Amino acid sequence: EAPASPPPSDLGKGVENLVIIGSGPAGDTAAIYAARANLKPVVFEGYQVGGVPGGQLMTTTEVENFPGFPDGITGPDLMDKMRKQAERWGAELHQEDVEFVNVKSRPFVIRSSDREVKCHSLIIATGATAKRLRLPREDEFWSRGISACAICDGASPLFKGQVLAVVGGGDTATEEAIYLTKYARHVHLLVRKDQLRASKAMQDRVLNNPNITVHFNTEAVDVVSNNKGQMSGIQLKRTDTEEESVLEVKGLFYGIGHTPNSQLLQGQIDLDNAGYILVEEGTAKTSVDGVFAAGDVQDHEWRQAVTAAGSGCVAALSVERYLVAND
Ligand code: FAD
Repeated sequence: EAPASPPPSDLGKGVENLVIIGSGPAGDTAAIYAARANLKPVVFEGYQVGGVPGGQLMTTTEVENFPGFPDGITGPDLMDKMRKQAERWGAELHQEDVEFVNVKSRPFVIRSSDREVKCHSLIIATGATAKRLRLPREDEFWSRGISACAICDGASPLFKGQVLAVVGGGDTATEEAIYLTKYARHVHLLVRKDQLRASKAMQDRVLNNPNITVHFNTEAVDVVSNNKGQMSGIQLKRTDTEEESVLEVKGLFYGIGHTPNSQLLQGQIDLDNAGYILVEEGTAKTSVDGVFAAGDVQDHEWRQAVTAAGSGCVAALSVERYLVAND
């Protein structure tokens, strides 16, 4: 459900120093740095992920690898702390989705359902969304057996020492499968086609790994549970013979890629073929001066909370420099 309507339009209020779109670790970290630098950033937090701000970590339970929390912290708690920290330093937060952006003329124009803001600089931190298979019982087992991040969840007690499955045939899936062999008893890789799409090197590593069984021409159809309601297996179907079977596993990892949330900027800044925002290597600079990108929307490789936060910091510090240089 959308939040209650805030006051109408901000038109005529002047031009803001900085607008940040997104309230995941990248957007919130950028907001903390920018607010501490007295830039009074305006943050459009968005609410598409689970109807709340905070981004992808709002959909998970324990985060065990974010520095500073030796006993782990839940995703929602971590994001609540980041949000409060940004607010404490004076970031102006609006729980609204941005619907329109124009960075082709200056000042830039950012519009949500409830207001329009003009700004001298922009940080895009809209994240990425893991592609899902849309299995009938997927929502029921999301974060309770189904995961889209082996690095995040592979070592969790839910999966450690268990037999697991990974879906996908590309580099993401093969990397996830290899990573999971560190913790799992055995890993099954489920590949729809009759071959892997991954690089030759990754194919060799998977096919020669005794702890990975590759099932070609095989797709996951649904989750199977035991009488305690826990995942006990996956219903499989062969894509060539349509034969069905059940594979006993305690976890299912999706390695079928992510969709970067960059649609707002399409046609205005440079994106790669998969839609990730292109930034100048080692910086947060996009192809448009004054527009910066941070977090998963520009990172198809690492996709971690701490790397997103780090790039949010780089983006905010870059904005500071940009505004001074263009004063
Ligand atoms: P996101 O967290 O995706 O946030 C994007 C933000 O942009 C959201 O607030 C969204 O509402 C907003 N947004 C999008 N479009 C708009 C719009 N049009 N207008 C306004 N706002 C918009 N990483 C770890 O390091 N450790 C973990 O244990 C871990 N566990 C994970 C578990 C799960 C289930 C998932 C899905 C991911 C996990 N990750 C983990 C990965 C981590 O969550 C991401 O790398 C990180 O959240 C990326 O941060 P981000 O700020 O770039 O984007």
